[in-house]
Amino acid sequence: MVRQDKGLAVSVASFSYGLPQRRCSAAAGDTDTQARLPHSFPVLDPAGLVLPCGLALPMMPVVSPAPRPLLDLSAEELSSWMATQGYKTGHTLPVLRSVYGAGQVTAPPKDRLPAGLMDHVATAFPSTAATLAQRQVSEDGTCKLLLRLPDGRTVETVLMPDYRPERAAGCISSQVGCAMGCDFCATTQTGFERNLTSGEIIEQFLHLRREAAAAGRTLRTIVFMGMGEPMLNLRNVLPAVRRMADPQLGALGWRQVTVSTVGIVPGIEELTETSLGVHLAVSLHAPDDATRTALLPMGRRFPVQDILAAADRYQEKSGRITTIQYCLLEGVNDSLNQARDLASLMKDRRMHINLLRYNPTGLSLKGRTYAPSSMEQTEAFLTTLRQCGAVAHLRRARGPDIDAACGQLRKREGAEKEKV
Ligand code: SF4
Repeated sequence: MVRQDKGLAVSVASFSYGLPQRRCSAAAGDTDTQARLPHSFPVLDPAGLVLPCGLALPMMPVVSPAPRPLLDLSAEELSSWMATQGYKTGHTLPVLRSVYGAGQVTAPPKDRLPAGLMDHVATAFPSTAATLAQRQVSEDGTCKLLLRLPDGRTVETVLMPDYRPERAAGCISSQVGCAMGCDFCATTQTGFERNLTSGEIIEQFLHLRREAAAAGRTLRTIVFMGMGEPMLNLRNVLPAVRRMADPQLGALGWRQVTVSTVGIVPGIEELTETSLGVHLAVSLHAPDDATRTALLPMGRRFPVQDILAAADRYQEKSGRITTIQYCLLEGVNDSLNQARDLASLMKDRRMHINLLRYNPTGLSLKGRTYAPSSMEQTEAFLTTLRQCGAVAHLRRARGPDIDAACGQLRKREGAEKEKV
């Protein structure tokens, strides 16, 4: 990845488990860089640059990026800052609780804090990074938010009411855009732009929690099934999960979080090593590599058997049952033979299959038009799975009357901007 700053190209270490990445124009919010930088760390060396050939480039002005939002900071980082400012580090948690509890830094903390501390924090760190750009509410209560990030990019996050009237689930994004190229997905059509910071991920959680409260519900679960591939941004997803789940901060609980993947095996292995105890969901969408690769290019790199073996190891270590996500597409992956093949993959495995109804997104990357399976075929697929001994459920489609599919609202907003 190459970062352009004032005409100078600065190489930036990349993530990616050796996977090819589309070139991205990382901006001020580039988490790969910023996550490792202390508050207001200068990007360019004031001494200038000397090229290997000996040519010295003139000294450039020091560029200080915007201060990192408070939500980007871990308790340890804030604690260090407090110490440098002469405050007791014991005040760190009350400060953070005021943010995670109320969603804004100016809310008075319950605990007693030194006079001026909250003002000092509010001056040093922006309380939030994103603003609400659009909000769509479906007849079924699904609420989709388009959040605008400080660099102008947008990201989607969705609140889904539970069948229990007091509960809701949130679907959040881990990246701006996505490089995975799943053919039926609207998000990937705009390409990959950048990873979200941990603060930007947490901010989605806080937005959804406020939406849920306004609807008289409690946000009980979070799934990373929005824009992006979470396993390619674990360096920010994991800290965000820790802070959302932490009883002292977001207080969501580990078991209430599901991290999904299109099948990035090294990511599943890394998650296994964390022992976080979150749930794992694998987007399989086909039982065989040929069909799967036509839908999900990552299938070329990670075959079905390798993905399931990695999920087995995760399940064994975490004790959490893996969910297999399977979006039924008419004439593509919904035959009864494919149902039998899928069920046989589940043999001797305690995994649950979630059948998903497809929300059409128009022309695909490869110029195809996918359609959801008919209800009749969907029922037959489900029945076959169960007859073959698999544990399977049909998830109802959410928000069919709004831009419910992942990436649709953002794509539409981009198209409208282009027209202006
Ligand atoms: S389905 Fe998920 S992983 Fe695949 S392109 Fe869309 S956002 Fe990326």
